[in-house]
Amino acid sequence: MTSTSHATTASPAAVHPAYTPTPSIPLLITELAQEDFWARYAKLRGDAEHFASGYLAARERTTLLLRAVIADLFALADPANPLAADDAAAASNAVRRKSRQMQLPAQAARTWLREEYEAWRSHEPHPPNCPGHCGGSGIVMETNTWQDDGAPVWAEPADCRRGEVDDPHFNDCLCHGTGQRWNAELREYGLCPRYTTDPAYERTARPKGENWDADPYGEEPF
Ligand SMILES: [Zn+2]
Ligand SMILES: [Zn+2]
Repeated sequence: MTSTSHATTASPAAVHPAYTPTPSIPLLITELAQEDFWARYAKLRGDAEHFASGYLAARERTTLLLRAVIADLFALADPANPLAADDAAAASNAVRRKSRQMQLPAQAARTWLREEYEAWRSHEPHPPNCPGHCGGSGIVMETNTWQDDGAPVWAEPADCRRGEVDDPHFNDCLCHGTGQRWNAELREYGLCPRYTTDPAYERTARPKGENWDADPYGEEPF
């Protein structure tokens, strides 16, 4: 897809060359779970034949694609583990089998998978009835700039989260848990695009018992 505002700020060391930017595995699992749900739910209800031609097949194929990407990322993170590499290759070939494409040797299958994932991200990755209201484009407009009084200034295309709220950013994020980062040069707040821990954050420097973890789930015990 054209906008990756939720996935563009990983530190350079964390960006694996096979996937740029590094995909968020929690987000991949959200995507996979939703695709699998739509495909299976229609079949369980018994009215799968009423869906538009190709709709359920696309959901099933996307489920296999994202499953293989997660396996590939795991294998890339542990390159000395041949089992993980072979699992990733087999999962990649499962995507090809679903599309009636010929099977490939392990490394070729994984290379193909990465290209296929990029193609999926760039072209209508979500179903037309996506709960995130992207209409299938995978892109939604999202406010990403606010004045210092909190008034929204600007919205831009951003990755659709399929109607799910973003994962929380704790106080040790560069946004201090607010979801927004101050831009001193422009004198405005910008969206915090991804939970990014601040090396300067020192949890132990805070006074014991201070009510700093003010979320609905209470304080972590020290
Ligand atoms: Zn969507
Ligand atoms: Zn943040």
